[in-house]
Amino acid sequence: MKTTIRFAGSAASPAQFPGDGLPEVAFLGRSNVGKSRLLNALAGVRNLARVSATPGRTRLVNFFRAGDELYLVDLPGYGYARVSEAERLSWERLAASYLLARPALALCVFLVDARHEPSEGDQLLRAFLDHHALPYVVVATKADKLGRGEQGRRTRSLAEGIGLNARAVIAASAVTGAGVPELWRAIREAAAKSRKGAA
Ligand code: GDP
Repeated sequence: MKTTIRFAGSAASPAQFPGDGLPEVAFLGRSNVGKSRLLNALAGVRNLARVSATPGRTRLVNFFRAGDELYLVDLPGYGYARVSEAERLSWERLAASYLLARPALALCVFLVDARHEPSEGDQLLRAFLDHHALPYVVVATKADKLGRGEQGRRTRSLAEGIGLNARAVIAASAVTGAGVPELWRAIREAAAKSRKGAA
C-alpha cells in the first residue's frame, strides 16, 4: 500500500516539534547534497520538499508525515560556503536541539554526495552521531552521475570511511529511483523497532 506523505509543519525551536510520539527519521547533509530531491523521490511526488527550499524555511526543521506511520524530518543543510559563524552556530544549536531531545528519533539518514570525499562538515556530523550513539544509514546521493563500477568503488570507500558505524550505506538517485526502495526498507525497519521499544 502506498503511504501518502504530507508537509506537517516547520519548527524554529523545540517547542514547535510535534508531540504525538510517532517515530521520526531525520535527514541530514550539507547544502546541495540532494536532500530535497531525495525526499521527493521517497514521497513519489515532484515538489513535496519544495517547502523546505523556500526562503525563510531553509533554517527550520521541516516535518513530513507519512500516513500514521512516521515523520520524515528535514533538518537544514550545513556547510554552505557563505554563511557566517553566527549562522553556523545557529545551525548547530537547532540541529543539536532536535537530535538530542527526540525520544521518538528512530534513525538518521546521513546524505553524502556519491562523487565527493566527505567534507569537514560531514566529518563533524559523523563524530556527533557516533559520540551520541545515534543510529544512522549513509546515503550516497546522485549515484546516477557515476558509472556502475565507480558507484561500487565509492560506496565501498564510504562504507570503510564515514560509514563505518552506519547500519548501511546505500547508493541512491532521485533521478533513476535507485536505492529508494532500500532506503524505505531501512526507514520502516527502524520505525518498527522504535515503536516496539516504546510499547
Ligand atoms: P538540497 O540542498 O540538499 O535540498 O539539494 P537539492 O535536492 O535541491 O539538489 C541540489 C542539486 O542537485 C539540484 O540541482 C538537483 O537537481 C541536483 N540533484 C539532486 N539529487 C540528484 C540526483 O539524484 N541526481 C542528479 N543527477 N542530480 C541531483
